[in-house]
Amino acid sequence: MSLTLILNRCAVCGSTNVKEKDGMYTCLDCGAKRDHSMSGADLARIQRAMLVGDQEAAQKLREKYRNLNITTWSSADRLQN
Ligand SMILES: [Zn+2]
Repeated sequence: MSLTLILNRCAVCGSTNVKEKDGMYTCLDCGAKRDHSMSGADLARIQRAMLVGDQEAAQKLREKYRNLNITTWSSADRLQN
């Protein structure tokens, strides 16, 4: 298994392009500045959706976080349309 557990995602858009400095998380994609990154509960949901290829859960998470950039097996096929 080569799934990488990502511990920091933007709490606003879900991007992994987050820089932590002095306890503040700055998102390089949407510019959000927060004192916390994405909740562990949502990180776990993302991990699980990717792991089991749960399309429905992945879609809900994509709607919530616009820069999520996660790929589940069959959505990768769909992108080739
Ligand atoms: Zn962001």
